[in-house]
Amino acid sequence: MPHAPRDHSPILVDVAIVGTGAAGLWLANLFAGRGFSVAVCDPRPLGGVQTAAAQGLIHGGVKYALGKAERIDGVLAAMPARWRACLAGEGEVDLRGVRIVSEQMHLFSRRPGTKARALLDGLAAAGRARRAQAANTPPFQGGALFETGEFVIDVPALVRCLAARLRHRVIAIGVDARSVAVGPTGVKHLRLAGRELHASAYVFAAGAGNEALAGRVGAETEMRLRPLRQTCVWPSARPPPVYAHCIANPPGAEPELTVTSHGAALYVGGKVASDGAARNEAEQIEAVRASLREHLPGLDLAGATFKTVVVERAEPASGLGDAFAARRGNCLVCWPNKLSLVPRLGDLALAALADLRPGTAAWRGDADGIARFAAPPYACPPRRG
Ligand SMILES: Cc1cc2nc3c(=O)[nH]c(=O)nc-3n(C[C@H](O)[C@H](O)[C@H](O)COP(=O)(O)OP(=O)(O)OC[C@H]3O[C@@H](n4cnc5c(N)ncnc54)[C@H](O)[C@@H]3O)c2cc1C
Repeated sequence: MPHAPRDHSPILVDVAIVGTGAAGLWLANLFAGRGFSVAVCDPRPLGGVQTAAAQGLIHGGVKYALGKAERIDGVLAAMPARWRACLAGEGEVDLRGVRIVSEQMHLFSRRPGTKARALLDGLAAAGRARRAQAANTPPFQGGALFETGEFVIDVPALVRCLAARLRHRVIAIGVDARSVAVGPTGVKHLRLAGRELHASAYVFAAGAGNEALAGRVGAETEMRLRPLRQTCVWPSARPPPVYAHCIANPPGAEPELTVTSHGAALYVGGKVASDGAARNEAEQIEAVRASLREHLPGLDLAGATFKTVVVERAEPASGLGDAFAARRGNCLVCWPNKLSLVPRLGDLALAALADLRPGTAAWRGDADGIARFAAPPYACPPRRG
């Protein structure tokens, strides 16, 4: 477990980052790679809250283009190539060793002659998707399957990779808003269990925790929380891997089901998860079971085990199309909005703190730091009672 600091002398770093989800860990790598000394604070295991629950889709916005095949947002569309460069060791953060678990995120529509099918055909005609060869392979039976060119990564492996270079830079303490000492130029220091953390710049990458921290420094950033009830399904026999958005008819603003495979588990998000925030676990399991029967009838759910988890997405109220970073004095408040947009958040953070120079009085780090990692929901099947 990462250690809390033991002595009481101030810790001095260039950049203090709050939060060890994908945003905080990415930014810490980015700044450390440029010669800045960093410290990252989080009371929870490394890997965040939303990040640990993420499905791992590095999307370029194709699902948002349903119904408007001619337009895919430019910022999102650039992200898969940015990630591929990093995965190949040629980007701004070296992600060699992080596995792509599926080269394709599919779009699937079961029923011919429907508006949903026409939309997918429209995407294909516009060059945004391609009819897949594997159309009739279980569990995709009797429908049309399209490849998007978007891919899925192993999120726990991403967290481990990002954390590898930060092992001694993690302080396992939460930053309460009241412990943020504020002065005329922004944050003076953070008080951490009797010890002060001083930095030239402070980055709040704390997901849902950002609102209180931003409020403390007077940054007027409104946050919204969007609860999702995600569902994990363990069929009694391991199904073939599924990485697909299942499109309902008529299609809605988001896919009815977004299904990803994680070992023996299928992990289900999408509209059924957004709607599921208003359901209890038993109701959600019934809704997901019915929806899987409808959209993926080739899946054998006899004897399957289900579990649901509620996770809140934390996003700036101003919009979702881009990552968000707002500077106030020496302080940066940021949300990536999507895992895919984390490289873009890196661009915004570096631009916002472009006047920052690596200092000389640097914390040497915690030599005893040992990382503890957040477990994703699909890693822990429920005990059969
Ligand atoms: C179910 C689900 C599935 C998703 N799937 C995808 C996907 O497939 N593709 C995609 O692009 N995006 C996806 N997303 C979105 C993506 O996961 C998030 O945008 C991203 O992970 C946010 O990262 P983060 O680091 O900002 O936040 P988080 O991962 O939530 O991390 C925030 C961290 O800050 C810490 N913290 C909070 N307050 C404090 C404090 N006061 N002091 C210290 N630490 C604090 C928390 O402990 C936490 O570790 C998904 C989100 C959810 C919820």
